[in-house]
Amino acid sequence: MTAGATATGARLLEGAPIAAEIRAGVAADVAAYAAANGRPPGLAVVLCGRDAPSMVYLERILKTCEAVGIATRLVDVPGEDAATQEQELGTAIRRLNDDPAIAGIIVQMPLPAGVPLRAVVDAIDPVKDIDGLHPLNAGLLRLGYEGFVPATAHAAMEMLSRSGVQIEGADAVVIGRSPVVGMPVAFMLTKANATVTVCHSKTRNLAAKTRNADIVVVAAGRPGLVTGDMLKPGAVVIDVGINLVDGHLVGDVDFPSARDVAGAITPVPGGIGPLTNALLLAHLVRAAQSQATSAG
Ligand code: NAP
Repeated sequence: MTAGATATGARLLEGAPIAAEIRAGVAADVAAYAAANGRPPGLAVVLCGRDAPSMVYLERILKTCEAVGIATRLVDVPGEDAATQEQELGTAIRRLNDDPAIAGIIVQMPLPAGVPLRAVVDAIDPVKDIDGLHPLNAGLLRLGYEGFVPATAHAAMEMLSRSGVQIEGADAVVIGRSPVVGMPVAFMLTKANATVTVCHSKTRNLAAKTRNADIVVVAAGRPGLVTGDMLKPGAVVIDVGINLVDGHLVGDVDFPSARDVAGAITPVPGGIGPLTNALLLAHLVRAAQSQATSAG
Protein backbone atom coordinates (compact mmCIF):
# COMPACT_ATOMS: atom_id res chain seq x y z
CA MET A 1 0.00 0.00 0.00
CA THR A 2 1.42 3.38 -0.95
CA ALA A 3 1.43 6.28 1.52
CA GLY A 4 -1.82 8.19 1.44
CA ALA A 5 -3.81 5.28 -0.01
CA THR A 6 -6.34 3.07 1.76
CA ALA A 7 -5.99 -0.73 1.58
CA THR A 8 -8.21 -0.83 -1.49
CA GLY A 9 -6.75 2.14 -3.27
CA ALA A 10 -8.93 5.18 -2.47
CA ARG A 11 -6.62 8.09 -1.73
CA LEU A 12 -6.69 8.98 1.96
CA LEU A 13 -7.17 12.72 2.42
CA GLU A 14 -5.46 13.35 5.73
CA GLY A 15 -5.81 16.65 7.54
CA ALA A 16 -2.66 16.55 9.66
CA PRO A 17 -0.02 17.38 6.98
CA ILE A 18 -2.06 20.30 5.61
CA ALA A 19 -2.84 21.50 9.15
CA ALA A 20 0.88 21.44 10.02
CA GLU A 21 1.64 23.64 6.99
CA ILE A 22 -1.10 26.09 7.97
CA ARG A 23 0.08 26.17 11.60
CA ALA A 24 3.65 26.95 10.51
CA GLY A 25 2.34 29.92 8.51
CA VAL A 26 0.23 31.03 11.48
CA ALA A 27 3.22 30.83 13.85
CA ALA A 28 5.29 33.04 11.52
CA ASP A 29 2.44 35.55 11.18
CA VAL A 30 1.90 35.59 14.96
CA ALA A 31 5.59 36.35 15.54
CA ALA A 32 5.51 39.17 12.97
CA TYR A 33 2.29 40.56 14.48
CA ALA A 34 3.74 40.46 18.02
CA ALA A 35 6.92 42.21 16.89
CA ALA A 36 4.94 44.96 15.17
CA ASN A 37 2.27 45.44 17.84
CA GLY A 38 4.07 44.65 21.08
CA ARG A 39 1.71 41.81 22.00
CA PRO A 40 0.50 38.57 20.45
CA PRO A 41 -2.97 38.37 18.94
CA GLY A 42 -5.56 37.22 21.48
CA LEU A 43 -8.31 34.64 21.22
CA ALA A 44 -11.21 34.62 23.69
CA VAL A 45 -13.11 31.40 24.27
CA VAL A 46 -16.46 31.95 25.95
CA LEU A 47 -17.75 28.99 27.94
CA CYS A 48 -21.18 28.47 29.36
CA GLY A 49 -21.35 25.11 31.02
CA ARG A 50 -18.52 22.65 30.57
CA ASP A 51 -20.21 20.31 28.10
CA ALA A 52 -17.76 17.42 27.73
CA PRO A 53 -17.47 16.78 23.92
CA SER A 54 -16.98 20.41 22.97
CA MET A 55 -14.51 20.95 25.85
CA VAL A 56 -12.23 18.40 24.15
CA TYR A 57 -12.41 20.44 20.93
CA LEU A 58 -11.79 23.72 22.78
CA GLU A 59 -8.90 22.31 24.78
CA ARG A 60 -7.26 21.23 21.52
CA ILE A 61 -7.64 24.76 20.16
CA LEU A 62 -6.14 26.26 23.32
CA LYS A 63 -3.18 23.87 23.09
CA THR A 64 -2.58 24.79 19.44
CA CYS A 65 -2.77 28.49 20.34
CA GLU A 66 -0.08 27.98 22.93
CA ALA A 67 2.11 26.16 20.40
CA VAL A 68 1.91 29.00 17.84
CA GLY A 69 2.17 31.89 20.34
CA ILE A 70 -1.44 33.11 20.36
CA ALA A 71 -2.62 34.51 23.73
CA THR A 72 -5.84 32.92 25.00
CA ARG A 73 -8.46 33.97 27.48
CA LEU A 74 -11.10 31.62 28.85
CA VAL A 75 -14.24 33.42 29.94
CA ASP A 76 -16.52 31.28 32.06
CA VAL A 77 -20.03 32.69 32.03
CA PRO A 78 -22.15 31.94 35.11
CA GLY A 79 -25.90 31.60 35.25
CA GLU A 80 -28.42 29.30 36.89
CA ASP A 81 -31.10 29.60 34.23
CA ALA A 82 -31.31 30.31 30.49
CA ALA A 83 -32.41 33.94 30.92
CA THR A 84 -29.45 34.76 33.18
CA GLN A 85 -27.04 32.83 30.94
CA GLU A 86 -28.24 34.71 27.86
CA GLN A 87 -27.77 38.02 29.63
CA GLU A 88 -24.34 37.09 31.01
CA LEU A 89 -23.18 35.79 27.61
CA GLY A 90 -24.20 39.09 26.00
CA THR A 91 -22.36 41.08 28.65
CA ALA A 92 -19.19 38.96 28.37
CA ILE A 93 -19.16 39.15 24.56
CA ARG A 94 -19.68 42.92 24.50
CA ARG A 95 -16.80 43.34 26.94
CA LEU A 96 -14.56 41.27 24.66
CA ASN A 97 -15.71 43.25 21.61
CA ASP A 98 -14.35 46.39 23.32
CA ASP A 99 -11.05 44.81 24.40
CA PRO A 100 -8.21 45.64 21.96
CA ALA A 101 -6.13 42.69 23.24
CA ILE A 102 -8.77 40.29 21.89
CA ALA A 103 -8.80 39.84 18.11
CA GLY A 104 -11.24 36.95 17.88
CA ILE A 105 -14.08 35.45 19.90
CA ILE A 106 -15.48 31.94 19.80
CA VAL A 107 -18.35 30.69 21.91
CA GLN A 108 -18.67 27.10 23.10
CA MET A 109 -21.37 25.18 21.26
CA PRO A 110 -23.92 23.84 21.81
CA LEU A 111 -25.30 26.67 23.90
CA PRO A 112 -27.12 25.75 27.11
CA ALA A 113 -30.74 24.70 26.51
CA GLY A 114 -33.01 27.70 26.17
CA VAL A 115 -30.32 30.19 25.13
CA PRO A 116 -31.09 31.29 21.56
CA LEU A 117 -28.16 31.04 19.14
CA ARG A 118 -29.16 34.30 17.47
CA ALA A 119 -28.89 36.29 20.72
CA VAL A 120 -25.30 35.12 21.12
CA VAL A 121 -23.97 35.34 17.55
CA ASP A 122 -25.58 38.74 16.97
CA ALA A 123 -23.63 40.07 19.97
CA ILE A 124 -20.20 39.21 18.48
CA ASP A 125 -18.52 42.09 16.67
CA PRO A 126 -18.34 40.85 13.03
CA VAL A 127 -14.64 41.81 12.82
CA LYS A 128 -13.93 39.45 15.75
CA ASP A 129 -16.31 36.72 14.53
CA ILE A 130 -13.55 34.35 13.36
CA ASP A 131 -15.92 31.38 12.99
CA GLY A 132 -18.20 33.27 10.62
CA LEU A 133 -21.45 32.92 12.57
CA HIS A 134 -22.62 36.55 12.65
CA PRO A 135 -25.37 37.37 10.10
CA LEU A 136 -23.08 39.95 8.47
CA ASN A 137 -20.43 37.32 7.72
CA ALA A 138 -23.09 34.80 6.65
CA GLY A 139 -24.48 37.44 4.28
CA LEU A 140 -21.04 38.25 2.85
CA LEU A 141 -20.52 34.56 2.15
CA ARG A 142 -23.94 34.27 0.53
CA LEU A 143 -23.09 37.18 -1.78
CA GLY A 144 -19.66 35.78 -2.57
CA TYR A 145 -17.80 38.62 -0.85
CA GLU A 146 -14.82 38.41 1.49
CA GLY A 147 -15.66 37.83 5.17
CA PHE A 148 -15.15 35.22 7.86
CA VAL A 149 -16.50 31.77 6.99
CA PRO A 150 -17.07 28.94 9.47
CA ALA A 151 -13.74 27.15 9.96
CA THR A 152 -15.21 23.68 9.37
CA ALA A 153 -16.73 24.65 6.04
CA HIS A 154 -13.45 26.32 5.10
CA ALA A 155 -11.64 23.11 6.05
CA ALA A 156 -13.81 21.05 3.69
CA MET A 157 -12.99 23.42 0.82
CA GLU A 158 -9.31 23.62 1.71
CA MET A 159 -9.10 19.83 1.75
CA LEU A 160 -10.54 19.68 -1.77
CA SER A 161 -8.38 22.41 -3.22
CA ARG A 162 -5.11 21.38 -1.55
CA SER A 163 -5.68 17.78 -2.63
CA GLY A 164 -5.92 18.88 -6.25
CA VAL A 165 -9.58 17.89 -6.63
CA GLN A 166 -11.22 19.41 -9.70
CA ILE A 167 -14.13 21.49 -8.33
CA GLU A 168 -15.02 23.57 -11.37
CA GLY A 169 -17.72 21.80 -13.37
CA ALA A 170 -18.03 18.96 -10.81
CA ASP A 171 -21.40 17.67 -9.63
CA ALA A 172 -21.34 18.04 -5.84
CA VAL A 173 -23.78 16.81 -3.23
CA VAL A 174 -23.72 18.35 0.24
CA ILE A 175 -25.62 16.41 2.90
CA GLY A 176 -26.67 18.81 5.66
CA ARG A 177 -27.93 22.38 5.46
CA SER A 178 -26.84 23.86 8.79
CA PRO A 179 -25.60 27.46 8.92
CA VAL A 180 -22.30 26.22 10.34
CA VAL A 181 -21.34 23.53 7.84
CA GLY A 182 -23.74 22.45 5.10
CA MET A 183 -24.90 25.78 3.68
CA PRO A 184 -21.50 27.52 3.83
CA VAL A 185 -19.90 24.56 2.02
CA ALA A 186 -22.68 24.67 -0.59
CA PHE A 187 -22.12 28.41 -1.18
CA MET A 188 -18.35 27.99 -1.43
CA LEU A 189 -18.64 25.06 -3.84
CA THR A 190 -21.04 27.09 -5.97
CA LYS A 191 -18.61 30.01 -5.97
CA ALA A 192 -15.89 27.58 -7.09
CA ASN A 193 -18.13 26.64 -10.05
CA ALA A 194 -19.38 23.23 -8.92
CA THR A 195 -23.03 22.33 -9.55
CA VAL A 196 -24.39 21.75 -6.08
CA THR A 197 -27.30 19.74 -4.69
CA VAL A 198 -28.05 20.30 -1.00
CA CYS A 199 -29.66 17.34 0.78
CA HIS A 200 -31.24 17.20 4.23
CA SER A 201 -33.42 15.03 6.41
CA LYS A 202 -36.45 15.45 4.14
CA THR A 203 -34.56 14.61 0.93
CA ARG A 204 -36.18 11.74 -0.95
CA ASN A 205 -33.92 9.01 -2.30
CA LEU A 206 -30.62 10.34 -1.04
CA ALA A 207 -28.69 7.53 -2.77
CA ALA A 208 -29.96 8.61 -6.20
CA LYS A 209 -28.45 12.05 -5.57
CA THR A 210 -25.12 10.85 -4.18
CA ARG A 211 -24.65 8.26 -6.95
CA ASN A 212 -24.45 11.07 -9.49
CA ALA A 213 -21.94 13.13 -7.53
CA ASP A 214 -18.25 13.63 -8.24
CA ILE A 215 -17.86 15.24 -4.79
CA VAL A 216 -19.88 14.26 -1.72
CA VAL A 217 -19.60 16.37 1.45
CA VAL A 218 -21.36 14.79 4.41
CA ALA A 219 -22.26 16.91 7.46
CA ALA A 220 -25.32 15.32 8.99
CA GLY A 221 -24.20 13.94 12.35
CA ARG A 222 -25.57 10.48 11.43
CA PRO A 223 -23.01 7.66 11.65
CA GLY A 224 -23.11 5.28 8.67
CA LEU A 225 -25.44 7.53 6.64
CA VAL A 226 -23.42 7.17 3.44
CA THR A 227 -22.35 3.69 2.35
CA GLY A 228 -20.21 2.57 -0.57
CA ASP A 229 -23.20 1.52 -2.68
CA MET A 230 -24.43 5.15 -2.59
CA LEU A 231 -21.28 6.44 -4.28
CA LYS A 232 -20.19 6.86 -7.87
CA PRO A 233 -16.92 5.00 -8.45
CA GLY A 234 -14.01 7.41 -8.06
CA ALA A 235 -16.03 10.05 -6.14
CA VAL A 236 -14.28 12.31 -3.65
CA VAL A 237 -15.83 11.96 -0.19
CA ILE A 238 -15.41 14.60 2.51
CA ASP A 239 -16.73 13.35 5.84
CA VAL A 240 -17.34 16.23 8.24
CA GLY A 241 -19.37 14.21 10.73
CA ILE A 242 -18.10 13.58 14.24
CA ASN A 243 -20.00 10.97 16.21
CA LEU A 244 -19.14 9.02 19.33
CA VAL A 245 -20.14 5.37 18.83
CA ASP A 246 -19.23 2.81 21.50
CA GLY A 247 -16.53 5.13 22.77
CA HIS A 248 -14.99 5.65 19.28
CA LEU A 249 -15.05 8.70 17.04
CA VAL A 250 -16.61 7.95 13.67
CA GLY A 251 -17.84 10.08 10.81
CA ASP A 252 -21.10 10.02 8.86
CA VAL A 253 -19.65 7.78 6.15
CA ASP A 254 -19.33 4.02 6.45
CA PHE A 255 -15.59 4.08 5.81
CA PRO A 256 -15.01 0.35 5.09
CA SER A 257 -17.57 0.19 2.27
CA ALA A 258 -17.00 3.74 0.97
CA ARG A 259 -13.24 3.36 0.52
CA ASP A 260 -13.85 0.45 -1.87
CA VAL A 261 -15.71 2.74 -4.26
CA ALA A 262 -14.40 6.27 -3.63
CA GLY A 263 -11.41 7.73 -5.43
CA ALA A 264 -10.44 9.74 -2.36
CA ILE A 265 -11.85 9.94 1.16
CA THR A 266 -11.21 11.76 4.43
CA PRO A 267 -10.77 9.59 7.54
CA VAL A 268 -12.50 10.32 10.86
CA PRO A 269 -10.70 11.15 13.01
CA GLY A 270 -7.75 12.75 11.22
CA GLY A 271 -9.46 14.36 8.22
CA ILE A 272 -11.42 17.59 8.52
CA GLY A 273 -10.98 18.00 12.31
CA PRO A 274 -7.26 18.98 12.39
CA LEU A 275 -7.74 21.30 9.45
CA THR A 276 -10.65 23.09 11.14
CA ASN A 277 -8.54 23.78 14.19
CA ALA A 278 -5.61 25.19 12.16
CA LEU A 279 -7.84 27.33 9.93
CA LEU A 280 -9.62 28.87 12.91
CA LEU A 281 -6.25 30.19 14.08
CA ALA A 282 -5.45 31.44 10.58
CA HIS A 283 -8.75 33.36 10.75
CA LEU A 284 -7.70 34.80 14.12
CA VAL A 285 -4.43 36.11 12.71
CA ARG A 286 -6.28 37.67 9.78
CA ALA A 287 -8.68 39.34 12.22
CA ALA A 288 -5.79 40.69 14.32
CA GLN A 289 -3.98 42.03 11.27
CA SER A 290 -7.03 43.80 9.91
CA GLN A 291 -7.91 45.29 13.32
CA ALA A 292 -4.33 46.55 13.70
CA THR A 293 -4.49 48.10 10.23
CA SER A 294 -7.79 49.87 10.86
CA ALA A 295 -6.64 51.04 14.33
CA GLY A 296 -3.36 52.39 13.00
P1 NAP B 1 -26.77 20.01 12.47
O1 NAP B 1 -26.93 21.44 12.73
O2 NAP B 1 -27.42 19.00 13.36
O3 NAP B 1 -27.24 19.73 10.97
C1 NAP B 1 -27.34 18.45 10.45
C2 NAP B 1 -27.87 18.50 9.05
O4 NAP B 1 -27.94 17.18 8.54
C3 NAP B 1 -29.30 19.06 8.96
O5 NAP B 1 -29.40 19.92 7.85
C4 NAP B 1 -30.16 17.82 8.78
O6 NAP B 1 -31.33 18.04 8.00
C5 NAP B 1 -29.22 16.91 8.03
N1 NAP B 1 -29.57 15.50 8.25
C6 NAP B 1 -29.78 14.89 9.44
N2 NAP B 1 -30.11 13.59 9.22
C7 NAP B 1 -30.11 13.40 7.89
C8 NAP B 1 -30.39 12.29 7.07
N3 NAP B 1 -30.74 11.10 7.57
N4 NAP B 1 -30.31 12.45 5.73
C9 NAP B 1 -29.94 13.62 5.18
N5 NAP B 1 -29.66 14.73 5.93
C10 NAP B 1 -29.75 14.61 7.27
O7 NAP B 1 -25.22 19.59 12.47
P2 NAP B 1 -23.91 20.46 12.05
O8 NAP B 1 -23.57 21.40 13.13
O9 NAP B 1 -24.06 20.93 10.67
O10 NAP B 1 -22.82 19.30 12.10
C11 NAP B 1 -22.89 18.20 11.22
C12 NAP B 1 -21.85 17.17 11.62
O11 NAP B 1 -20.57 17.77 11.49
C13 NAP B 1 -21.95 16.70 13.08
O12 NAP B 1 -21.55 15.36 13.14
C14 NAP B 1 -20.93 17.57 13.80
O13 NAP B 1 -20.43 16.95 14.96
C15 NAP B 1 -19.87 17.67 12.73
N6 NAP B 1 -19.00 18.84 12.87
C16 NAP B 1 -17.69 18.63 12.63
C17 NAP B 1 -16.78 19.66 12.75
C18 NAP B 1 -15.33 19.40 12.43
O14 NAP B 1 -14.45 20.21 12.74
N7 NAP B 1 -15.01 18.27 11.78
C19 NAP B 1 -17.23 20.93 13.12
C20 NAP B 1 -18.60 21.17 13.29
C21 NAP B 1 -19.48 20.09 13.16
P3 NAP B 1 -32.51 19.04 8.47
O15 NAP B 1 -32.01 20.42 8.16
O16 NAP B 1 -33.66 18.63 7.62
O17 NAP B 1 -32.71 18.79 9.93
